[in-house]
Amino acid sequence: ANSRYLQSQQERESSARSYPRRLPIVIAEAEGVHIRDMDGKVYYDCLAGAGTLALGHNHPVVIEAMRKVFDQKYPLHTLDLTTPLKESFIDELFASLPPSFARHARIQFCGPTGGDAVEASIKLMKTATGRRSVLAFHGGYHGSTHATMSISGTLGQKEHVAGLMPDVHFLPYPYAYRCPFGVGGDETQRLSLRYIENVLRDPESGIVPPAAMIVEPVQGEGGSIPAPAAWLAGLRRITRERDIPLIVDEVQTGLGRTGKLFAFEHAGIEPDAIVLSKAIGGSLPLSVVVYHERYDVWRPGAHIGTFRGNQLAMAAGLAALRYIKEQELPERARKLGERLQGRLRALAEQERCIGDVRGLGLMIGVEIVDEYGEPDHLGHIPAAPRLAAQIQQECLRRGLILEVGGRHSAVVRFLPPLIVTEEQLDDIADRFSESVRAARK
Ligand code: PMP
Repeated sequence: ANSRYLQSQQERESSARSYPRRLPIVIAEAEGVHIRDMDGKVYYDCLAGAGTLALGHNHPVVIEAMRKVFDQKYPLHTLDLTTPLKESFIDELFASLPPSFARHARIQFCGPTGGDAVEASIKLMKTATGRRSVLAFHGGYHGSTHATMSISGTLGQKEHVAGLMPDVHFLPYPYAYRCPFGVGGDETQRLSLRYIENVLRDPESGIVPPAAMIVEPVQGEGGSIPAPAAWLAGLRRITRERDIPLIVDEVQTGLGRTGKLFAFEHAGIEPDAIVLSKAIGGSLPLSVVVYHERYDVWRPGAHIGTFRGNQLAMAAGLAALRYIKEQELPERARKLGERLQGRLRALAEQERCIGDVRGLGLMIGVEIVDEYGEPDHLGHIPAAPRLAAQIQQECLRRGLILEVGGRHSAVVRFLPPLIVTEEQLDDIADRFSESVRAARK
C-alpha cells in the first residue's frame, strides 16, 4: 500500500525532498512515540519532526487545546491582532524565561517556521546596531532561506546559489571530536574562545563590527554537538565586552529537550535574543523571537507578515508548554538522555565504527567512522557516511526512525519525544544495537 504514494510523491513533489528518500514511508496514523505506515508497520519516531514533537504525536492535552479553539468559535487567523489566547501564550512563555530576562523581554511573532524567526532576529539586530556583519559558527544550521542559509554551514545548499548575504564570519564551534585545532577534549573550547577573542580584537582580521553573533547551544543538524557551558559563558563575556548582541538559536533545543527548558540555562547566561520554533507550536507551525527591549527599534511596518501568531498553534503550544513544565519533562529528558547515552557508550565499546557518542538530554548523536581509515592531518578518523546510511536503513527495517546528519552526514541522531518511557528507550537502544551489528556485516 505504501508504494503507490511513494511513486506519486516521486513524480509530483520537488526533488529537493531529502528525508523521504532516506525514509520511504507513508504515514497512516501517529500517536505518542509511534507512527504506523499504510501497511500497518509500526515505527518508533525518533525524528519527531526534527525535534518538534516534544509530547509526541497527537498528545491528548494538545488535541484538547485545539478542540477548544474550534468549540469556542475562536478566530484561527488574526494577523497581529491580539486575543486572550495570545495573551496567555505570552504570559506562559515569559513566565518560563529567567525572570531577569523576562522583565525586559519583547516578543516578535514571526512566520510559521524557525527560519523566519532567525531571519527576523538578524534583521532586527542589524537595524538596532546599524552594523552589517554577522558572526556564526562552523557546522551551524539556522534555516534554508537566503539569510539563514548564509549563516549556516550547509555548503551543499549554498554552493549553487549566488548572492548570499555578505559579511558573514564563521568561527570555530567546540566540536571536540573533530577538533578544528587538532587537540580535542577541554582544550577545544579553550582554544576556540581564544581564537574568537583574538580575531575580534585584531583590526586586521577583516571582521567589520558585527551586528550580532548567532549560536546554537547544541548544534542539531550539525551533528548533535553540545557546546560546553563554560564555552557559552565565555561567548557571553566576549560579546558583552565588545557590545555584540548574542542571539541564541533554540529552535531545536528549546522547551526541555536538553534537560532545561532552554539550553542556554545550562550556562547560566542571558542572551540578547532567543529564537524559538518547533516545539513552541505544540506540533503546529509557529516561531518567535524574544529579545531585550533595548533592541525594540523597529518602527511600525518595519517587519510584517501574514501568518504570524496562528491561534491554533498558540493554543497547542501553550498546552504543550504548560504540560512540559507541570510534568517536569526537562528533568525527564536529562535522566532518559543519560540512560540512552549509557547504552550507546556501552555499544561503542564493542563497535569500533562508533567514534563518538554525545549529546545533552534527548538530543543525542552517534558519530559513525571508518575504523580502518587513515586519520587525516588533524588525527581525525574519517567519517563513514555510507555506513551511517546503512545503519539508518537497518533501523528502519527494525521499526526505528532515526535521522542522519552532521557535517559529514555520518551522525545518527536521536530526537525522541520527551514523553518516551524508559522501556521504550531501552527497546530503541536494542533495535539500534542490532541495526549497527547488521549494517557491519
Ligand atoms: N535553527 C535550528 C537550530 C534548526 O534546527 C532549524 C531546523 N532544523 C532551523 C533553525 C530552521 O527551522 P525551520 O526548518 O522551521 O525553518
